[in-house]
Amino acid sequence: MHKGRQNMKNIVLLKGDGIGPEIAAQAVKVLSLLKGFALQEEDFGGCAIDKTGEPLPNGTLQAALGADAVLLAAVGGPKWDACPKRPEAGLLGLRSALKAYANLRPAVIYEDLKRISPLKDEIVSRGVDIMVVRELTGGIYFGKRGRGTEDGAEYAYDTEKYSEKEIERIARMAFDIALKRSKRICSVDKANVLESSRLWRSVVNKVSQDYPEVKLEHMYVDNAAMQLVRDPSQFDVLLTSNMFGDILSDEASMLTGSIGMLPSASLGGKTGLYEPIHGSAPDIAGRDMANPIGMVLSLGMMLKYSFNMDRESLLIEKAVRGAIACARTIDISGGCKSVGCDEMGDIIAGNFERLLREDV
Ligand code: NAD
Repeated sequence: MHKGRQNMKNIVLLKGDGIGPEIAAQAVKVLSLLKGFALQEEDFGGCAIDKTGEPLPNGTLQAALGADAVLLAAVGGPKWDACPKRPEAGLLGLRSALKAYANLRPAVIYEDLKRISPLKDEIVSRGVDIMVVRELTGGIYFGKRGRGTEDGAEYAYDTEKYSEKEIERIARMAFDIALKRSKRICSVDKANVLESSRLWRSVVNKVSQDYPEVKLEHMYVDNAAMQLVRDPSQFDVLLTSNMFGDILSDEASMLTGSIGMLPSASLGGKTGLYEPIHGSAPDIAGRDMANPIGMVLSLGMMLKYSFNMDRESLLIEKAVRGAIACARTIDISGGCKSVGCDEMGDIIAGNFERLLREDV
């Protein structure tokens, strides 16, 4: 790997805070086994606030906008909770600047980890292989908000607003993905209560007319939350708004055993953003306890979605499966002896190197 060269695939790496640098180091071990990538590190999140007062300094933003892909670990932590601009604001700013309106979050139960899923064996044995397609740059996280005082008491509000265009583009993305999977979509909303959900449902219905081979179902978000633990095997592609997807994908992650397992890809603009779905886990930061798999699989998604390197992406998944069969970080150890983040990264990278050699 080289730093910022022409004719190379230029990746901006944002290690961020908490466990971010520890898990990012494991992804770098894996990426360094591939030729043609140049890596550029930039400050982002809390560590950027410490240096510049801004979670997303202009230099970082420009580097991200000019990159072929952005690989992000995690940001945030109690140290910056009281800052006027929190690290999470940088995250929303980055997603928005990259026009990354579609967040893909696969949740898969690995055969070797079925035992540690909190669900009963008979439910887990039916399998879990869900792709959450979450709208990422609209809705309540970006809507009008405010605070005030009324009759001597404080109030606050946030607004959920979606345009037809925003719903249509995320719906099309979900239908296109469903075509390559089992051709089933469940669109999640709260159309029995929310006006924005009623528009969501009608636009999704309209888009579905262009995809007659995909079976569309609608489900209220409260029911979807329940069905995810009752029978997750019923779901394939779950299409959601920003907030509903945030919550449901965290729930889906626990079915797989640990939030540390899940990657994500944020797509829509010229540059894709890839990050594990978890946060900076301040409770375990700096203790070599973090699970690097969500981060490494995010790298795998980067290879697939930004560079069409499907083979290498599959081999990363295979390397992870192989690693889990012989070693686990503490969050997925199920009470057995565990290895640290660094050793887990070595095992995955070792597997990947061997698979690259064998699978020519
Ligand atoms: P979190 O995801 O950081 O942690 C939740 C729990 O999961 C913790 O017990 C943690 O130890 C565990 N965990 C998370 N990732 C793990 C991993 N890779 N391996 C093993 N265990 C792991 O969520 P939180 O505690 O709500 O948030 C902590 C900080 O992260 C906050 O400042 C929050 O705002 C921020 N955050 C950032 C992002 C992001 O960068 N995309 C996402 C969510 C939260």
